[in-house]
Amino acid sequence: REVQNTETRTKTFRIMNKKQTKVNVVVRLRPALKTDDKSCVFVDGKSLEIFNHRNVNENIKYDFSAVYDINTHQQTIYQECVKPQLLHSLNGQNVSIFAYGPTGAGKTHTMLGSATDPGVIPRVINGIFHLIEEQKKTDTMEWSESVKFSYLEIYNEKVMDLLDPKDTDLPIREDTEKNILIPGLGEKEIHSFDEFKTYFGPASNNRTVAATKLNERSSRSHSILLLKIKRTQKSAPYKTLHGKIYLIDLAGSEDNRRTGNKGIRLKESGAINKSLFVLGEVVDAINCCLPRIPYRNSKLTRLLQDSIGGSCHSVMITNVAPEERYYYDTYCTLNFATPRIEILANKTPMIPEQDPIPAKKPRLTAKEPDKPPQM
Ligand code: ADP
Ligand code: MG
Repeated sequence: REVQNTETRTKTFRIMNKKQTKVNVVVRLRPALKTDDKSCVFVDGKSLEIFNHRNVNENIKYDFSAVYDINTHQQTIYQECVKPQLLHSLNGQNVSIFAYGPTGAGKTHTMLGSATDPGVIPRVINGIFHLIEEQKKTDTMEWSESVKFSYLEIYNEKVMDLLDPKDTDLPIREDTEKNILIPGLGEKEIHSFDEFKTYFGPASNNRTVAATKLNERSSRSHSILLLKIKRTQKSAPYKTLHGKIYLIDLAGSEDNRRTGNKGIRLKESGAINKSLFVLGEVVDAINCCLPRIPYRNSKLTRLLQDSIGGSCHSVMITNVAPEERYYYDTYCTLNFATPRIEILANKTPMIPEQDPIPAKKPRLTAKEPDKPPQM
């Protein structure tokens, strides 16, 4: 296909430093929920195209390190994006896996899944125990292991314990070795997947009980599962390795300010947008090898300071929905951490059935000035 070079935007820094990219950004497109829903997203190998709302004769093409289409199984996501990272955690390194995207695009499906179609979290728990057993077969030295997990959410820039709920905003601290920790955060040692389930089920319910409207809260909070893996040699020199795995179902990336939220909801939206905005800046800074990474600008990135960037292994699974009504969210989501964008001629123009950009709320009176959101 002929490339119309009307506009080729390339984040030059990132391309120059491709070998040093630390956060691996992939995309997963979920199937349409109704068979008669028209799709506005097309997958072609490692790239993905949507129409250009500024010119329907053009498509915008995004290149990622991998694009997973509607037929992708949970096992494939785990096998290709997540499993390769687990070994690093056994070797004392930190890992973070994120699901990013608008509400309804498949983040929770990807991370948690269902009993019949389990996602990343149950597969990682099973995978870790399996890997520990596998390692024992090849290790020349004997090790003892402990696996502990914590479960928390960041809601409205507050750190809330879900495993051992306390109704307080927990502090985030850094020790002398630059490890990030949350003093007082509940944790449970687990020895099997079944044991994990007995703790995780009630902890998930804590999230439900705390929410007035579950969907609203779950789409506005970052849900964070932390696994700590400690391995100690059973004989001299008694080396100890500490590895962490963060599995994160991020808050919805849609811009809630556009839907006319007010009061507390507006405050939440602002906070969530701030966290996601800073996460975008952090990912960009890492992938562009910038000297300063703005970890401290949000609770989420501060917490992840020792688990994203540096020698850590991070994968961002960007979830998008195919339906036209998601067009604008998809467009914004794909622009979040995209290495390369191109504009292509589209021989069969995609004419949207409705304006893809949601209308801003009209002003009440012509004279009323814009007020800043009440924080
Ligand atoms: P999010 O957590 O991003 O708000 P969900 O994971 O709840 O979105 O997904 C929205 C709906 O789409 C759910 O009913 C979910 O089961 C379904 N879904 C998401 N991804 C897939 C997929 N890859 N295959 C089948 N159904 C999916
Ligand atoms: Mg969800």
